[in-house]
Amino acid sequence: MQILYPFAGSIQQYNEHHADHSHRPCSCAMCGAQKPLRAHGFYWRTVADAGFDGAIRVARYLCLACRRTISLLPEFVLPYLRFAIAVIGLFLKARLLDRKTLKKAAMAAGDSHMPYQRGQQWICRFCSQAAVLSAALVALTRPPAAPDFVTRALTMLETIGWVPAHRFLFDRLRVHLLGWPAFLAPDGRGRGL
Ligand SMILES: [Zn+2]
Repeated sequence: MQILYPFAGSIQQYNEHHADHSHRPCSCAMCGAQKPLRAHGFYWRTVADAGFDGAIRVARYLCLACRRTISLLPEFVLPYLRFAIAVIGLFLKARLLDRKTLKKAAMAAGDSHMPYQRGQQWICRFCSQAAVLSAALVALTRPPAAPDFVTRALTMLETIGWVPAHRFLFDRLRVHLLGWPAFLAPDGRGRGL
């Protein structure tokens, strides 16, 4: 299972100073055991944003009570997506709120060579998730008058900030900004991930 590591710096700063075991959780998010988890290695995952395209190290911990592993994912990325939240947010806002063309939306996200399919996939996933997001984010901001869920969810995300919204959705509700892949629905827990 993945839990969030609140981190406000850049990806480079994370890689240089924070990709270690110094933020060991003191309880287990899976079984609730109130004992510090044991450091259990790392895994590598790729991340891309406007200024970085490479791999980051994610710390993994083992709960000695339930023998399951928990990894501490920095909050600038979404589980199972290579691109940082900032890039996805800029693209979706430009395309769906500001009504820019796919190409211009990709440029707004700092990736003028974005393949058509990738942008379409983000749009598709976000649109399917918009009603869930609109309902959940009411806890953080007043819902605006909007003609549809997509506009409403995007306006709320822009007001709150994409990363703070993700922190709330993921930490409290186990909601994924773009929806969990089917094998992890509905709460991203899967089998011991
Ligand atoms: Zn446990």
